[in-house]
Amino acid sequence: MKHTERIVIIGFGPVAASLIEGLLPGVSAGTIELSVISAEPELAYNRVLLAEVAVGAAAAEHLNMVDGQRLREAGVKLHLGVTATGVDRSRRRVHLAGAAPLAYDRLVFATGARPVIPSLNGLNFDPHAESALPAGVLALRTLQDAHDLQQILSRRGRVLVLGGGILGIEAALAMAQAGHQPVLVHHGPAPLGRVVDADGGRLLIGSLQAAGVEVVSGVKATGIHTAQGFTGLATDTHGIIAGDGLLISTGVRARTELAASCGLETNRGIRTNKYLAADTEHRVFALGDCAEVDGHPPVGLLAPGWAQASWLAGFLLNHRAPRPDGPSRPIPADLPAPVFDTSDVLMLKGQGLEVTAAGDTSGGLFDQDKQVVVYADPANGRYLRLVTRDAVPKGFVAMGLPRTAAELVLAYERGTALPKDASTLLRLDDPADQSPAVAPGPGDQLCRCSGATYGEVEHAVESGCTTVTEVGESCRAGTGCGGCKATIEQMLNKLPVPA
Ligand SMILES: Cc1cc2nc3c(=O)[nH]c(=O)nc-3n(C[C@H](O)[C@H](O)[C@H](O)COP(=O)(O)OP(=O)(O)OC[C@H]3O[C@@H](n4cnc5c(N)ncnc54)[C@H](O)[C@@H]3O)c2cc1C
Repeated sequence: MKHTERIVIIGFGPVAASLIEGLLPGVSAGTIELSVISAEPELAYNRVLLAEVAVGAAAAEHLNMVDGQRLREAGVKLHLGVTATGVDRSRRRVHLAGAAPLAYDRLVFATGARPVIPSLNGLNFDPHAESALPAGVLALRTLQDAHDLQQILSRRGRVLVLGGGILGIEAALAMAQAGHQPVLVHHGPAPLGRVVDADGGRLLIGSLQAAGVEVVSGVKATGIHTAQGFTGLATDTHGIIAGDGLLISTGVRARTELAASCGLETNRGIRTNKYLAADTEHRVFALGDCAEVDGHPPVGLLAPGWAQASWLAGFLLNHRAPRPDGPSRPIPADLPAPVFDTSDVLMLKGQGLEVTAAGDTSGGLFDQDKQVVVYADPANGRYLRLVTRDAVPKGFVAMGLPRTAAELVLAYERGTALPKDASTLLRLDDPADQSPAVAPGPGDQLCRCSGATYGEVEHAVESGCTTVTEVGESCRAGTGCGGCKATIEQMLNKLPVPA
C-alpha cells in the first residue's frame, strides 16, 4: 500500500525554493505531503538583488523565485508569515507561532542566516531574537530591509555603511551609482582587508571614491546616536560620524537556535554528516546558509546551497522515510558521498568596479617557496598581485583587469600552470592587443552564483532553450546576481565566448 510521507521544510529562502522544486514530482505523485514554513510573508525571493531594489534599479517582483500558485496547485502547503518556534523530535512535530503544530516524518532545516549585529551602545540587540533595530538602522537581508533603505534614500538621506566586506561595498556602490552619497565606514586600513594587501587597498579606496563612495577607514565604532531615528555613529577614532541611516554589513551568522533547542548539534551551523543528516536517526536534515556540512562551515553563497538542495531532493525522493510507526531506516553506508565544494573566488559584482580575488596572496617578492608578482598602475586603476607555486596560481587579487582576472580564475580553479613570464597575462587587458584568451572548457564555472558550468549551459542551449530565462530554468545559470547573462546571450547566439 502506498504511504504518503510528510516532509516539513522550515524556511523558504532560495535554497528551500530549489529543494521544493526538486520534490515536486513526489508531491504530484502523492507520495510526499510537503509543508513549508516561512517566517517572512513573501514567497522565496532572490536576496542577491536586494541592494538593486533599495536603490530603485530593480522592482521587488523581479526577485521572485517561485510561482506560488503553481506550487499550491501541485499540493505544496505554504505557511507564509509563520515562525516555527519549537521542534518536538520524539513526537515529530513542529510547533508554530499562532498555528496548530505540524507533524512530520522527515524534517528539513533551511533556516538560513541572519546578519551579525555588532555590540554598539544604543543597539542592545539580542543575536537570537527578532527584536527590531532602532529607526534608521538596518541590515540588508530581507525585502523589508530593502524597502526601509529605499525610504531613507528617498529623503536624500546620507547612509553610512558599516563594514568593509564585499556586501557592504556592493551596497555602497549601488547607492552611489543611483546618485546617492554613501559613506563606507570600516575598521581596517582598507576595505576587503582580508584579501587585499596594503597597496591594493589604497587603490581600491581610490576607485571607490572615484565611483562616488566616501570611505572612512580605521574606524572603531562604539555606539549609535538617535533622535527619533538614527543621527550618527559614535566612534573612538573619528568622533561622531553623522548620517541619516546606518546600514550594518558586518557579516552573517547561521540561524541555529531552533535546531539547538531540539537537541541537534550546532557549531558555526547546524552540524550534519556528508549526507546533510543532522540527527542519528536520519530523519532531520539541514542545508544552505544554516548548515555546517561534514565539518565545513556555511560559506553564505547560493551555489553550495543549490547543489545541496538538488542532491537532497533526489535522496528524499528515492530513499523513502521509515514508516511513521516503524523503526528508523538509516542512510545506506555504501551511498556515494555527494560533493558540495565551492570556489573561494571573490568577485565584486556589477557597478563598474572590477575586483577579483582568490586564495592566499600573502608572501614577499623574494620568498623562496613561492613566486610573487606585483603590477600597479594607480593612475588607470589597475593592480595585480599574483602568488604562484611552480607556476600554478595559489592566490591573486586583480583590479581593473577583467580579462586577466578571468584567465587567472580559470587557471586557479583548474590548478593549471600560467606562462613563465606573468607579464604576458596583462596583454589581455591591453585595448591594442586583441589576442584571444584561453577558452573556457565545459567543466569551467560560468555562473558563480549557481555554480553552473559552460558545459551545462551549452547542454541547455542544445536541448532547445532559446532565452536566458529558459537557460536559467534549465540549469539555474544567470538566476543569481545576473552578472553572467551577457555570456549566456552570446552562447545562445552562437557567438564566441570571451574568457
Ligand atoms: C544583499 C545580499 C547579496 C548577496 N549576494 C550574493 C551573491 O552575489 N552571490 C551569492 O552566491 N550569494 C549572495 N548572497 C547570499 C545568498 O543570498 C544566500 O546564500 C542565500 O539567501 C541562502 O539561502 P538559504 O535559503 O539557505 O537561506 P536564507 O536566504 O537566509 O532563507 C532562510 C529563510 O528561513 C526563514 N526562517 C528562519 N528561521 C525560521 C523559523 N524558525 N520559522 C520560519 N522561517 C524561518 C528566514 O526568515 C528566511 O526567509 C547575498 C545575500 C545578500 C543578503
